[in-house]
Amino acid sequence: MKKLVLASGNQAKLRELSSLLKALDYQLYPQADFDVPEVSETGTTFVENAIIKARNAARHTGLTALADDSGILVDALDGAPGVCSARFAGAHATDDSNNALLVEKLRAIPAEQRTARYHAVIVYMRHAGDPSPIICEGSWKGMIQLEPMGKGGFGYDAYFYLPDLGCTSAELSAKEKNKISHRGQALRQLRDRLASPHTT
Ligand code: IMP
Repeated sequence: MKKLVLASGNQAKLRELSSLLKALDYQLYPQADFDVPEVSETGTTFVENAIIKARNAARHTGLTALADDSGILVDALDGAPGVCSARFAGAHATDDSNNALLVEKLRAIPAEQRTARYHAVIVYMRHAGDPSPIICEGSWKGMIQLEPMGKGGFGYDAYFYLPDLGCTSAELSAKEKNKISHRGQALRQLRDRLASPHTT
């Protein structure tokens, strides 16, 4: 099995990626197993931040590294919160405080102008100096509503309305969400790229 390090401490991400990669003969280890220090996400794009995290993990472990970065972009806010999605309401933000700020900023905007999308990037860096990392991306369009609906998911899901389905992403099961979500799209791309003999 090929060894990979995941540049994240998030157990849910580790589980999700591990099951996908096992089938391709990759064993994934969290970066905490190697005492990798956290790195500041100083990029202005999801791709930059994912590369910063993957390079940091590869440099400290000598292993091939995987990193992801994601967020929500609201058109009426010029793409904000974007790369700041997790900390939209400040350094100690929670999902509730982030959502409260989002609703406050959009309250005066007519419903049909509250278009948004989730975006996810997954980066695979063969080594810290890899000049051509594999970059997989996914995007998922929706609208922001001002009242929460649904108990599933996390982050902004209870406010992310999907007009085609007539529900929010918090009302989908994890399986339904993975089938169409930004992260699901990026994960399937990664699986296909790693399965190709020309990629790795
Ligand atoms: P990160 O990629 O783990 O840094 O997550 C960035 C932030 O984007 C999360 O903390 C959430 O606020 C938001 N986000 C990313 N993906 C989703 C999603 O699928 N549902 C809800 N919020 C999300």
